[in-house]
Amino acid sequence: MTAPTHAQWEQLRRLIHAIDARLPFAGAPPELVALRHMLPALGLVGREFATDPRDQTLRDRTVGTLDAVEVRQALTRVLHHDQFIAGKFRSLVNSGAVQRLCRRAHAIALTDDGWPIALAVDDDGRIPIGMVVRSLGSGIEGRTTGGRRRCPHAHCGGWDVSVAWETGQDTRICTEGWHFDPVSRELRIVGGGEITARVPVDPSAEVLPLPRPKWPTRELLLTHPAWWAAG
Ligand SMILES: [Zn+2]
Repeated sequence: MTAPTHAQWEQLRRLIHAIDARLPFAGAPPELVALRHMLPALGLVGREFATDPRDQTLRDRTVGTLDAVEVRQALTRVLHHDQFIAGKFRSLVNSGAVQRLCRRAHAIALTDDGWPIALAVDDDGRIPIGMVVRSLGSGIEGRTTGGRRRCPHAHCGGWDVSVAWETGQDTRICTEGWHFDPVSRELRIVGGGEITARVPVDPSAEVLPLPRPKWPTRELLLTHPAWWAAG
């Protein structure tokens, strides 16, 4: 099986954020159906684990300590149990367990110490200035300012990067809420607010984008170092 693409991982991360924002689920909403289909497509389900007795050993482990094989094993068991216990998958999504496993799978595959492996930083730990950033709905563009620091939120192992938005606003977006696409070399927000990427979502800390009439002119915007660096 070929390795999942960055686009597939991005899709999974968007879906998980969308699910977390809508919990708890009843019935079989389209998000759950989509997630069930996405897991095998990303290679996160292996038939060989369906009746694996080693599953018992995973019970007392925290998700953050599981390796790639153990994550696949656990997700396979989740889907396997769902065939026999109606609503099992949904209840494990409602508890957040499935999302934690998906996040762990993504962390193992594409990140190192919470940072996207494909996005190189310089010797001072800064990222290139002027990289394109896209808002959650992709309708607003930003540029990286080069700033990068550990996410200050407790229990978040992610990193914040500073962004200057075309709205004239500046935010720090956490790796937990954006995805780096190495093909386009863009940072794309996948959850946690249109231009904030704060996870978990904190409505009191969310910066709402200004309406378009309040945005700076293009001429003014291009005087910002992050924007003229991009050309
Ligand atoms: Zn964070």
